[in-house]
Amino acid sequence: MCGCIFCKMASREIPANILYEDDLCMVFEDINPQAPIHLLVIPKKHITSLNDAGDEDGALLGHLLGAVARAAKEKKIDGSGYRTVINTNAEAGQTVFHLHIHVLGGRRLGWPPG
Ligand code: AMP
Ligand code: ZN
Repeated sequence: MCGCIFCKMASREIPANILYEDDLCMVFEDINPQAPIHLLVIPKKHITSLNDAGDEDGALLGHLLGAVARAAKEKKIDGSGYRTVINTNAEAGQTVFHLHIHVLGGRRLGWPPG
């Protein structure tokens, strides 16, 4: 059985504040928000990191980006601006090894990121 926390959220074994869900993906609030709006967009399919997304996942990755834009619009940060981040492996600070896209907004975000 898969011990992955985001797989458990996708299967509703672990609760989440879900903003949007369809057959392929889920959008929920990050439990430790780094901005007034901090959402995570995940595929329901387990993909460990962006390194593990194959050519067959191209349409799925596009679908996730569509979900990002939809969520940003729903949270009304599409006009003011938001940042999408995918942390991959140790030096980028990936802590959950199920592919996810961070959506951060609701404040001015610094650049370059830390
Ligand atoms: P990363 O460091 O890029 O792997 O991001 C993992 C993110 O998952 C962090 O921002 C965590 O706050 C978030 N996170 C971990 N567990 C949960 C949870 N149970 N519900 C919501 N977000 C979570
Ligand atoms: Zn998983």
